[in-house]
Amino acid sequence: MKLLLKNARVVDPAAGIDGAHGATILDLGGLCVCPGFIDMHVHLREPGQEWKETIATGTHAAARGGFTGVACMPNTQPPIDSRSVVEFVLAQAREHGAVPVYPIGCVSKGQAGVELAEMGDMAVAGARGFSDDGKPVASAGLMRRALEYARIFDLPVIDHCEEPTLVAGGVVHEGEISTRLGLAGWPGVAEDVMVQRDILLAEYTGGAVHIAHLSTGRAADLVRRAKQAKIRVSCEVTPHHIALTHEAVGGYDTQAKMNPPLRTESDRLALLAAIADGTVDAIATDHAPHNSDEKCVEFSRAPFGVVGLETAVSICLDRLVHAGVIGLPRLVELFTVGPASVLRLNKGALREGDDADMTVLDLERRVVVDPGAFVSKSVNTPFGGWTLRGGPVMTIVGGRIVHDARGGQRES
Ligand SMILES: [Zn+2]
Repeated sequence: MKLLLKNARVVDPAAGIDGAHGATILDLGGLCVCPGFIDMHVHLREPGQEWKETIATGTHAAARGGFTGVACMPNTQPPIDSRSVVEFVLAQAREHGAVPVYPIGCVSKGQAGVELAEMGDMAVAGARGFSDDGKPVASAGLMRRALEYARIFDLPVIDHCEEPTLVAGGVVHEGEISTRLGLAGWPGVAEDVMVQRDILLAEYTGGAVHIAHLSTGRAADLVRRAKQAKIRVSCEVTPHHIALTHEAVGGYDTQAKMNPPLRTESDRLALLAAIADGTVDAIATDHAPHNSDEKCVEFSRAPFGVVGLETAVSICLDRLVHAGVIGLPRLVELFTVGPASVLRLNKGALREGDDADMTVLDLERRVVVDPGAFVSKSVNTPFGGWTLRGGPVMTIVGGRIVHDARGGQRES
């Protein structure tokens, strides 16, 4: 299919373009055309928990949210720890997906943290990285071997950084709020310890480590220094850690229960600084769908997680670009070349000959978050009713329009 876009501002930091561009057929009336956005951290729940999400519904939510590709985490049932499960995910995505899916394989068999999974087999089958996400790689010895092995395939190990004996059942950031609510605390240092361990192991092995959903100011600083020392470390931050603090949990709201937990205002400000100064490589949603019944229980028993695919871009336009934290080209980088380079994807730019994956933004659109309108199967979001400035209006994958919300107010 041939598609020509016109009357748009093209923002492609990878190609150094930010300017007017003329073409034909589709008049975009002054909208912004960017390389396709990639969400490198999504839980699609299939196989095994299809009541929460499926590859079909999750990728349609991605398309609606402006994403032209998603990397899916392997904590499914069964977990993505073998070639056959990688192949299953890719086949489902090809058949039912609205956007491409990049599977992340497990680091350890069954995510048990004991024995390495068949990483080579999974890489050959199409895995784009390795992670036991949902859980940390608690054993430093296993992490060392994972980094050494992943290096052979030039793929990253993505770590969910929590030191289990320090988290010890914590459900909310350890601080004033956890004390006031009488909930078990999950201290920031439990993340910092693992981030530093992973950096040391990346340095020692020469492997590439990617820190998932980085949430503390100290961890951001550790990554910043490691990058200055040319250690192969990258990191992502979620929209909810950008927009919220642990104050959101104040009324025992389980929609604000996530892992890692929402942290303090000083952590949040440190994350914004790390986003602005280039320490952060990607914004990733950690889209974690859960059924309403599962979230409607007492706080300590509710599952961790928040959906993010259909709100991420608006939150970031509103809270980062319109708030003056960063310019639009930097935001586009965080959603395109940033994640593409971590996952070694030949994506994220608008060069001649590349896949025509594009995300079209309306910077001024007024977006009212309406979870009832989500195409995700789950609506566990703390952002319901928020009014945000700017949002994605069209998603194009391989030259094909997979989502088009131009005209009218987008009810997110
Ligand atoms: Zn995680």
